[in-house]
Amino acid sequence: MADLSPLLRGLSGATILGINPPVHDFTFSDLWAKPLGLLFLLDYLRRRGNRVHLVDCVYEGRFGFLPFGRSRIRRTEIPKPPPFRSIPRRYNRFGIDRNGLIESLRSLPPPDFILVTSVMTYWYEGVFQTMETLREYFPSARIILGGIYARLCPEHAARSGADEIQSLPLSLDLTKPAMDLYPDRRYGALLTSFGCPLACEYCASSILEPRFRRRPREEVLEDAAAQILNGDVLDLAFFDDALLMGKETHFYPLCRALRKMKPGIRFHTPNGLHVREIDEECALFLKESGFQTIRLSLESIDPGFQKRGSEKTGDKEYLRALSFLKQAGFSPDQLETYVLAGVPGQNPESVEKTIRFIAENGGNARLAEFSPVPGTLSFEHAADIVPELRDEPLLGNKTVFSSYISGLLTPDRLQHFKDLARNTAAGR
Ligand code: SF4
Repeated sequence: MADLSPLLRGLSGATILGINPPVHDFTFSDLWAKPLGLLFLLDYLRRRGNRVHLVDCVYEGRFGFLPFGRSRIRRTEIPKPPPFRSIPRRYNRFGIDRNGLIESLRSLPPPDFILVTSVMTYWYEGVFQTMETLREYFPSARIILGGIYARLCPEHAARSGADEIQSLPLSLDLTKPAMDLYPDRRYGALLTSFGCPLACEYCASSILEPRFRRRPREEVLEDAAAQILNGDVLDLAFFDDALLMGKETHFYPLCRALRKMKPGIRFHTPNGLHVREIDEECALFLKESGFQTIRLSLESIDPGFQKRGSEKTGDKEYLRALSFLKQAGFSPDQLETYVLAGVPGQNPESVEKTIRFIAENGGNARLAEFSPVPGTLSFEHAADIVPELRDEPLLGNKTVFSSYISGLLTPDRLQHFKDLARNTAAGR
């Protein structure tokens, strides 16, 4: 386990390059996410007198516009890695290729340090290939690999070719992400807190952020102002894990201030909101504040399964929240409800029942396919079924884990769930 905080704290006058590698996966789309951890760190290093640059290989692959500020991302079919060879689906790179990366590097001064981030554990091939290019192009730079994959799979990440792996949380004064490093931004991505006070058995939030903490209000507002009072930004996505917890003293005042700061700004919550927190007042507040896209975390109506999800919601609470949101004026297509499928020990019948329950009550189910996340209890259950998971993160890919890798669901059954969710969606 390594913590490079002392090294990073001591840097000044250095040239530092941040890299977000392209994504290798079956599917991917721009859902407002940005590599916030890397951006917080680049801002910190810049404040300490370093020169910072960023190449986001996903963002560099954007072309054409999608609703609410998002972009289409260039997709190139690539050969499937060996564990996926027999899976009848296309595998792709999302973002720029090696030549595109070299083109971006050409315009930059040689860095002293390169900070490479990583997200999904099963995206590591994009990280490894990027690392090779960086090594060739800037042979004397010291390369540090951080991010979620590096934190959750440090031993595997050691094979990446990086000089150092940041496998522990950074203990630095990180105050805001350097979003200004993105040219032509059309949306903002905001975190008002880190971590989650709950501990669902399939989620790594409490491993990545052992302590739930809210950012100081002034700091969040300064961050938001830098993101939304600039250029063509009309949309802001919240990436908190527990946005509505303690809403009266944290979220409501913040959101009021954001509305004043930029009237007409459109808000989105790509991470599921805690349904229990949505009462009549909250639903009205979300509507009046300009929320456009809301995701609700129900996951399952099976009480046994709800226990595994920290009992964060029950059926009645969900129905109450849905009804308040509709009364507040949200249309069905603005409200999607996550249903988790393919978790070890989950009864597949309960997935179908949950989708039907949501549809019967006027909601829109959105299937979230389970991916085993190292360090969680569900990962251990998954590794009991597929022991190779412990050494091959690719096998945890959410698109294929339940249907092709573990056999927990057949591909046909998973497709049936997807079709059912699509065909029963209210308002479509
Ligand atoms: S409530 Fe959400 S973020 Fe929190 S532990 Fe559960 S799944 Fe993770």
